[in-house]
Amino acid sequence: MTRPRIGVMGGTFDPIHHGHLVAASEAMNAFDLEQVLFVPAGVQPFKQDRQVAPAEHRYLMTVIATASNNRFNVSRVDIDREGPSYTYQTLRTLHQEMPETDLFFITGADAMAEILSWKNSEELFELAHFVGVTRPGHDLADQGLPHESVSLLEVPAMAISSTDIRDRARHDKPIWYLVPDGVVQYIGKHGLYQN
Ligand code: ATP
Ligand code: MG
Repeated sequence: MTRPRIGVMGGTFDPIHHGHLVAASEAMNAFDLEQVLFVPAGVQPFKQDRQVAPAEHRYLMTVIATASNNRFNVSRVDIDREGPSYTYQTLRTLHQEMPETDLFFITGADAMAEILSWKNSEELFELAHFVGVTRPGHDLADQGLPHESVSLLEVPAMAISSTDIRDRARHDKPIWYLVPDGVVQYIGKHGLYQN
């Protein structure tokens, strides 16, 4: 019997955009994943220098963006845990909840390049298989990561970042079609990213 496989897509999702959704969908197809679990981060270790939208807003936008796909789900493990989110803790928790499931952690080329600097990086590769997806502006070359635990996947190029979306929202420029319609409306309704 083959073990069930699920994808895990970690991120700040401030806000979630179509780059995240395409990456998850492509990884789900390429690796035969039953579902992808989106895990919005609590306080991100590398982002403590900037104001991040409250976790509940980021969580709800992620729920809205994934609601129409019955193989996309959202987990609260990180936002309900005290303190900063470290990927090894996320994967440990998910592994404990689902010991019979193989975890595939999906990450863009920029985050992939940083993995070796993440806390407890050796343990990460025992907890999950890593899927590094291409991202415009970032090189997904061999970065000295263990070959047996990492796969590289070319996905349609989406030159979208949450940083750019926040800038656009702040300057009243359009964000339609960069994020799902419901997320555009949620940002407007709550006046997010206006400073
Ligand atoms: P920010 O600009 O605030 O850093 P972001 O767009 O990079 O936001 P994150 O929440 O930081 O979004 O990213 C979560 C994960 O999604 C990371 O692994 C990141 O590499 C990946 N990712 C984000 N945008 C894309 C994209 N356009 N294409 C492929 N992967 C992406
Ligand atoms: Mg980022």
